[in-house]
Amino acid sequence: MQNTLTEKIKALETKARQLEPDQAVRDRVFASSQAYVNRFINSLPEQPSFIRYGCPQLQQREVMGDGVAFDELLGIIEREVNLNGLNAASGGHLGYIPGGGLWMSGIGDMLADVGNRYAGIVYSGPGAVMMENKMIRWMCDLAGYPEGAHGNLSSGGSIATLIALTTARDQHGIRAENVRRAVIYMTDQAHHCINKAIHITGLEEAILRLVPVNDQHQMQVDVLRQWIAADKANGLLPFLVIANAGSTNTGSIDPLETIADICESDGLWYHVDAAYGGFFMLVDELRDKFSGIGRSDSLVMDPHKGLFLPYGTGVVLVRNAQALMRAHQATGAYMVDALGYADISPADCGPELTKHFRGLRMWLPLHYHGLDAFRACLVEKVYLCRYFHEKIKAMGFETGPDPALSVTCFRYPAPDNNEFNRKLVERLHEDGRIFLSSTLLDGDVWIRCAVLSFRTHLREIELALEMIREAVRGV
Ligand SMILES: *Cc1c(COP(=O)(O)O)cnc(C)c1O
Repeated sequence: MQNTLTEKIKALETKARQLEPDQAVRDRVFASSQAYVNRFINSLPEQPSFIRYGCPQLQQREVMGDGVAFDELLGIIEREVNLNGLNAASGGHLGYIPGGGLWMSGIGDMLADVGNRYAGIVYSGPGAVMMENKMIRWMCDLAGYPEGAHGNLSSGGSIATLIALTTARDQHGIRAENVRRAVIYMTDQAHHCINKAIHITGLEEAILRLVPVNDQHQMQVDVLRQWIAADKANGLLPFLVIANAGSTNTGSIDPLETIADICESDGLWYHVDAAYGGFFMLVDELRDKFSGIGRSDSLVMDPHKGLFLPYGTGVVLVRNAQALMRAHQATGAYMVDALGYADISPADCGPELTKHFRGLRMWLPLHYHGLDAFRACLVEKVYLCRYFHEKIKAMGFETGPDPALSVTCFRYPAPDNNEFNRKLVERLHEDGRIFLSSTLLDGDVWIRCAVLSFRTHLREIELALEMIREAVRGV
C-alpha cells in the first residue's frame, strides 16, 4: 500500500514538474518573448491604431490535456490579440481616455508574478505592502492630503470609486432606514462608473440630483448650493457631492475649491473623480487648476491613464483612513496570525483579500525613470492637445472650449451636423491610422481628441490632422 502510494506520487511528480520549465526552456521562451516584444514596440509607429479582425484561432482552440509549443501560442497572441481592435499601446490612440503600457511596468509585473508576494497583508508581504503604502502616501502628498489619509491600489477607477462611495455611505450612516431621504449631487458629465457604484453600494434608492453645468461643462456651484439648502429645508439628507477633476467627455474641471467650501459648511462627503486628470497635478504649471482637491474626502486617480501604466491600476485615496478601514475591514478565524501589525494592510482598505501585487508595476518605472520624465510627458500631452485644438479650428472646425487638460472636442459645421460628423467618425475608424472617438454633448455629435498615451508625440498629432482633412473630403 505504502509503496504503491509513493510510486503513484512519484509518477505524478514527473508530470507535475512540467509546470516548472527548466532554465534552458525559460531561456528559449524569454528569447522568443523578447524578440516579440521588440518587434511589437518597434513596429508601433507604423501600426494602425484600429483594426477589425476576427479571432478564428482563439475561437477554435480548446484547452487540451497536452501542452502546445510556446511560439504557436505567441503567434495567436500577436495576431489575434495584439493586432486586433483598438491598439491601446499605440501613440495613435486618441480616443476615450488613452491608456499606457510602460515596458518597465511589464518587467515589474513579471517580477511581481514570479515572486508572487502576498500583497494583501503586512505580515505575509511586508515589503510588497510597504511598497504599495509608499505609493499611496506619495499620491496623498501629491493631492495635498494630510497625515492620516490612506487609500488602496485597485484594478481601476471603477473599483476605486466603489471603495470611495462605500466609505462615504458608511461614514454618513446611510442605511435602509434613511436611504430614501439621502441625496447625492453630481453633473451629467460624471463618469458612468459612478452610476454603477451607486447601484452596487445600494444607494440607488437615494435621490440623485444632476446639477446643471455651464458652457465649460463645469458644475454650476450656485445651483448646487441652492439645491442642498432646499433639500435640507425639506427634511432630506444631502450627504455626497461628486465633482470632476478632468471629465472623460471634455476634460472639464469643476470649481473644486468652491465645492469644498460648500461640502465643508454643509457637512457633506466630497468625492473628486480625478481618474483621468489627477496626475496632471505633477505638472507645476497645471497645479492651480486642481486647487481645492486636497480638501476632498475621497479621490480617485487612474495610474493606468495619467501615469502610463498598463491597464489594471487605479487608486482611491481617502482623507480619513479610519473611515476607509471601518467600511472594509473584516477578519476570519484563519487570519489570527496576521493580526497585530501597525502598518495598514491593503486587505483592510478595499474588497479584495488576495490581490495582484500592483505596487511593483508602479514603483519600478517611477523610480527607474524618475519623476521628471513623467512630468515632461504629461505637459507634452497638454501642449499637443492645445496644438491640435488650434489647428483643427484653423481647418474650419467648430470647437468646444479651450482644453482644460488634454481633451478637446470638435465637429465639422455641416448643414446636417450630426449626420455629417457621424459619417466622419465612421471614415476615421475605417482609415484606422489614428483612433478618435465621438461623444454626445447636449444630444449633438462631437468628435474628441484625447491625448494621453505616452507614445503620442507631434508626429501622431500631425497624422491625425492629415487624416481628418482627408476624411472630410471623403464625406
Ligand atoms: C476612466 C475613468 C473612470 C473609470 O475608470 P476605469 O479605470 O476605466 O474603471 C472614471 N472616471 C473618469 C473621469 C475616467 O476617465
